[in-house]
Amino acid sequence: MPSTPLSITSRLPQVGTTIFTVMSALAQQHGAINLSQGFPDFDAPAELLALLGEAAREGHNQYAPMTGLPVLREAIAQKVQALYGADYDAGEEITVTAGATQALFTAIAALVHPGDEVIAFAPVYDSYGPSVALQGGRMVYADLPAPSYRPDWAQVARLITPRTRMIILNSPHNPTGAVWTADDMATLAALVKDTNIVLLSDEVYEHMVFDGLRHESVLRYPALAERAVVVSSFGKTYHITGWKIGYALAPKALMAEFRKVHQFNVFTVHTPSQVALARFMAKPGWYEQLRALYQGKRDIFRQALASSPFELLPCQGTYFQCVRYVALSDEGDQAFVERLTREHGVAAIPLSAFYPDGRDEGVIRFCFAKSATTLEQALERLRRL
Ligand code: PMP
Ligand code: GLN
Repeated sequence: MPSTPLSITSRLPQVGTTIFTVMSALAQQHGAINLSQGFPDFDAPAELLALLGEAAREGHNQYAPMTGLPVLREAIAQKVQALYGADYDAGEEITVTAGATQALFTAIAALVHPGDEVIAFAPVYDSYGPSVALQGGRMVYADLPAPSYRPDWAQVARLITPRTRMIILNSPHNPTGAVWTADDMATLAALVKDTNIVLLSDEVYEHMVFDGLRHESVLRYPALAERAVVVSSFGKTYHITGWKIGYALAPKALMAEFRKVHQFNVFTVHTPSQVALARFMAKPGWYEQLRALYQGKRDIFRQALASSPFELLPCQGTYFQCVRYVALSDEGDQAFVERLTREHGVAAIPLSAFYPDGRDEGVIRFCFAKSATTLEQALERLRRL
């Protein structure tokens, strides 16, 4: 191709390629064990895969309704009722999306106007800022200070202004594994009461909460849910990140705005996956075994590194373990993960990638959603450091 003669003004001048793509590519290039990008290296249950094939063979291969297949929306409504006691109307308050990323983007596009302020917590998942920037909104960051990464509510209160349109929450939290408490939810409810602030709650790790803790979904709290779009992802829950399917829930008036954007963004989502998931969701016990599975992997990971130079930070949820490596090296976190990948064959994510100001606190993130064999090999390499 010739180079383009056009002069291009970027809509996202500060943005490069996501750290997840960069580190996965580096891992592949060096044949390293990839504990960077968050995805399981084991397969989805055979039964779910069989249901997908069955759905396609049965002829569920044309456009699903714009809002998602009714059977899947019903299954989601039943799930949130059973787990969180939340009543959502499958017809008007639930939409199936092409993963959580699209749901988050669509909610932001639907609800954030140019000049609006959006509060999020840093370290922050990388898609929020660019999604807000594309709508002309302004990100305002509250700190989650290491090592507990707990919110400082007095700071959040100071950041709220008449221009605050949205607060984005994410518990269990990527990348830190911190989990919000019932007190956090009560404080948040008091802060947003009598404001016009909408909450966007990213709950993709809702089923990965450890040590008997409870996932404090916004859906449990009517005073929060009445002003919230809540997002989750089947990718995390059923080991199918590559299917790119998730959903959003919101009160009718918010969901109506969400759908106006959704219909021109993706319009509708892969039909056979929706049939397969609706059928598979009827199976009891999945969420409990998922929590046990990941708690077990977290424990293996932590035990193996307990007496290593890596300092293990708390991990209450998600499938990520953060560690401080300063006893091993005084390199910057990006340089350290690159060398770890190249020379020691294990890839990780530098936490500076999650800070809008690029702050480097000598902390990196490992994903432990891996088979026993992969974990054993990776941990052996890390223990040798
Ligand atoms: N939010 C968070 C916090 C995530 O970690 C991820 C994916 N790892 C997503 C959203 C996106 O989920 P999906 O793959 O369903 O788009
Ligand atoms: N959310 C996943 C992570 O944190 C990656 C998803 C992506 O690559 N965008 O690793």
